[in-house]
Amino acid sequence: MSVSLTENRWNDDDAARWANDAGDDPADRDLALRIYTSRLIGGDPDLVLHGGGNTSVKTMRGSNGAVMHVKGSGWDLATIEAPGLPGLHLEATRTGGRAGALSDPQMVALLRANLLDPEAPNPSLETLLHGFLPAKYVDHSHATAVLVLANQPDADSICRAIYGKRLAVVPYVMPGYDLSIAAARIAEANPGCEGLWLVNHGLFTFGDTARDSYDRMIEFVNMAERHLASRGISILPTDERPREDPFLDLLKERLQAAGSVFTDGIVIDARSGPSIDAFLAHPSLADLATRGTVTPDHVIRVKPFPLLLEGMESADAIDSALKQFGRRYEAYFRAGAAEAKEAKVMLDCLPRVVQIRNIGMVGIGKTAGEAQIIADLTSQSMRVMLAAESYGRFTPLTPSQLFKMEYWSLEQAKLGK
Ligand SMILES: [Zn+2]
Repeated sequence: MSVSLTENRWNDDDAARWANDAGDDPADRDLALRIYTSRLIGGDPDLVLHGGGNTSVKTMRGSNGAVMHVKGSGWDLATIEAPGLPGLHLEATRTGGRAGALSDPQMVALLRANLLDPEAPNPSLETLLHGFLPAKYVDHSHATAVLVLANQPDADSICRAIYGKRLAVVPYVMPGYDLSIAAARIAEANPGCEGLWLVNHGLFTFGDTARDSYDRMIEFVNMAERHLASRGISILPTDERPREDPFLDLLKERLQAAGSVFTDGIVIDARSGPSIDAFLAHPSLADLATRGTVTPDHVIRVKPFPLLLEGMESADAIDSALKQFGRRYEAYFRAGAAEAKEAKVMLDCLPRVVQIRNIGMVGIGKTAGEAQIIADLTSQSMRVMLAAESYGRFTPLTPSQLFKMEYWSLEQAKLGK
């Protein structure tokens, strides 16, 4: 069986050009190489998609002393530039982060207070995690092959079997302050580890140089890919094409008629292709497709589950399927809100993804960009779920964990921008 491996795209000439163009200041050169490998990671959809993942570098910046540059909220690794990696006073950020449990607003205030440039974008919600890790360069991805294995019931022992002590296992903790503290403790308890395996979430790697950290990211992803291949599991290629059909116009019309969230405009991104067909033909489709998202971030865009249709149904049948989806979403909301510490306001009850047997998959957004992002995330998710289910059992976050992420005020703030 031939193994398709994620490519290491480091190029010495390109790296030298980035460093030289940055000038003589060693901090600017460190940052330039950070931008270079961030773009290498962001440019591969099987590592991260649409704003997923984050990266950082720690350096010495003149009179500011130790500074950490970390991905800013709203930036995409594929196209990141220096302003997308705002600098923070490293020691003050660490001290503030360790002073005691922080609420979400307290964490955001701490990060903003330590920005070198007060006009800079909000640093990543994972900034404290990056800051607590001692390594100079830190990279974080949601690689497809890693998600296949990190969403298994025994994801921790799988990690140990493949990577030994090179990776330390972090059980699922919601991103933000709690994850930063938990991950820092685990990294400290595993001296010499080269990265962190985040169950149900993804992979962190670190190193003394931009290249070390990037090489490790690719090496560890390749090890996951080889492990899957050794079990006879292949991740299907991304091979979809746009799908057109009059039925999709009807679906769009019914979605628009169903609710206020789309009354100002609705764009659908409909696709079919061998990997989508294989997913929609899965014998346990109704269960597999609605079990949960492959990484926590996705839920804010795709909702916790899609709407499934059995085929080209009538307008009435679509309407009743939408109502049924709404009732299921409402039940999910009520269960989650009952556990929440503060009052939550329900978002709209309409799907962002529709999966139609024998037809294809549809991403739904208010704009073409949004619909495309949702369809891209769903396409990767289908490939992850199929491979995960043939490896063992796709075992993602629970509805309660998904709810906490979807209704996390800091994630909602990100979408609002
Ligand atoms: Zn992540």
